[in-house]
Amino acid sequence: MSTPRAKVSNPHRLQRNGRPSHWVNDKGNAFNNPWKSWRNHDWRDQLYIVFKHSRQCPTPPPNMSELIPVRKPTWTFEGPDKLKLKATWLGHASFLVELPARTIEGSSASSPRRGARILFDPLFSERCSPIQWAGFKRITPPACQVEDLPDIDAVVISHDHYDHMDEGTIRKLAALPRIPHFFAPLGNLNILLSFGVSQHSVHILDWWESRRVQVPVLVSDSEDSSHVPVEFDLTCTPGQHNVGRNFTDRFKHPKSLWAGWAVKEVLPDSEGAKAKSAYFAGDTGYRAVLDGQDEEKVPVCEAFEQIGEAFGGFDLAMLPIGAYLPQRFMSPVHCSPKDSTRIFKDVKAKHAIGMHWGTFVLTTEPIMDPPARLKEACEAVGIEEDSFVCTDIGEVKLYD
Ligand SMILES: [Zn+2]
Repeated sequence: MSTPRAKVSNPHRLQRNGRPSHWVNDKGNAFNNPWKSWRNHDWRDQLYIVFKHSRQCPTPPPNMSELIPVRKPTWTFEGPDKLKLKATWLGHASFLVELPARTIEGSSASSPRRGARILFDPLFSERCSPIQWAGFKRITPPACQVEDLPDIDAVVISHDHYDHMDEGTIRKLAALPRIPHFFAPLGNLNILLSFGVSQHSVHILDWWESRRVQVPVLVSDSEDSSHVPVEFDLTCTPGQHNVGRNFTDRFKHPKSLWAGWAVKEVLPDSEGAKAKSAYFAGDTGYRAVLDGQDEEKVPVCEAFEQIGEAFGGFDLAMLPIGAYLPQRFMSPVHCSPKDSTRIFKDVKAKHAIGMHWGTFVLTTEPIMDPPARLKEACEAVGIEEDSFVCTDIGEVKLYD
């Protein structure tokens, strides 16, 4: 019989040397992965990644548009759909989530035309690279461009890697007439300011910190321009990853933090049980597996059980399922589909959508393997087929 896993008494903030365990100094301006499941890339790994890796990545087949269809997303909802949680995969790790159209003033108040809209890791550029004439190029188009988006209330960034924090997209979002609020983990203030986001629109959070966001929304079926408030709580959550935007960043302690994000609708106490929640995992690994090691015998990242415990589960989780081979190099930083099914269970998700695949060829697994492996992994651990899915790009999923 296996020994039950140890419980962490204060899951919200692990401390080491009197400071959060992911801080490497008292100032909180350099970070590390505090997990037993983490492994730093050694110099041999770095040489492989820099000089050999891209030559071993697959070439996209000519029929990509049939393999991963791209749809034009819908942004307006009527009738009972207005009260559902909506999520649209826009390609790679980009998602638009719309919470149910419900006000904090209760169901007897006028109803808002829409729920709060949160855009995660938006990337609509042709490449995820420091330059737009070289570097990783899209193999599938994005579902839309910034100009096609409806009003966005919050833009939420997981970390500074080029495939999650895209300067071109952020510049366009920051220049919108109705400027969204931008949320990012510690250490990302200056980069967002340099992309044209104004200081009063940026909110920088540490793991386990939360902000409450209130959005005035026009009232439904009304000729005048009266508004009702809709609200949500946004919490920065831990994960296992790294950061960096240039070659030398590989050899230093990260100066900015990586994170996932939890969103929870805010409703009056009497209706609190109805509040919908979503979890965006950002970019994360689950364990670090060396060649020849049994992945079932290495430690796994405890962050996800802590997140599941802290929030009591989620209606929807957006989980990465791609960029996982070769396992030796990728497992510390990226989940395999099998790892993602474990995270699904750890965070107590009711539904999930796979992301971080089908958009750029970053690693050596065949391009269509992530959804195929996900199906097998779900079967193996007893997750029902329609609970953890891959969608078309631009397909809107609705959750009761
Ligand atoms: Zn990353």
